[in-house]
Amino acid sequence: MDIILLGAPGAGKGTQAKYLEEHTGMIHVASGDLFRAALRQGTELGMLAKSYMDRGELVPDEVVIRMIIERISQPDCRQGVIFDGFPRTREQARALEVELSAHARRIDHVLYLRVPEDMLLRRIAGRQTCKTCGSTYNMFYFPSKRPDICDECGGRLYQRSDDTMETARHRLEVYFAQTMPLIEYYREQGSLIEIDGRREISQVTRSMIDALNIA
Ligand code: AMP
Repeated sequence: MDIILLGAPGAGKGTQAKYLEEHTGMIHVASGDLFRAALRQGTELGMLAKSYMDRGELVPDEVVIRMIIERISQPDCRQGVIFDGFPRTREQARALEVELSAHARRIDHVLYLRVPEDMLLRRIAGRQTCKTCGSTYNMFYFPSKRPDICDECGGRLYQRSDDTMETARHRLEVYFAQTMPLIEYYREQGSLIEIDGRREISQVTRSMIDALNIA
């Protein structure tokens, strides 16, 4: 099974993908995480992506598409992928369809995590990410047990440079203009499942598992 988690920045895609990955054995592929990993490794791709990420803009389609195709061509992804943060444009959605169908696969479900805008901003502003393992927390809603220290691996927590209020607002604008249209696109295809993303993490996970019929 291949699924897409669709939703605005701060909707909880990364958090939920982690639980789904544990529950299903599918592989979580997050385009933003791949860019941040490339940046930590100091690669050309990482440097290029940073110039867009810092401004809250989308990295050009051809760059993202190439990176994702490379990732999902790896053997671990054969058992099914949870796409997080990709696709974000119609062009990316089409490229993904072409790539999957070349391997007799298709997107089975698109889970849309719906969260109101004011809540998104608060979630983004409180978000902390582990430098070592990438786990995410939220200072207001889901804090780590010890301040600024990751519960999972003891790594240091930091605020992503694109999680400041100003950049977050712009990321939301970009989302509404470029990614929101995908909701209609997938609804018309009959693959969209809407999930109320305002609730507690475990309740959202439960709804997703029920919706996918994989309990
Ligand atoms: P995320 O971690 O998903 O919030 O992504 C962080 C940043 O990475 C975004 O603001 C974009 O600059 C870039 N990015 C991640 N995924 C994509 C994508 N599918 N298309 C274009 N840019 C992306």
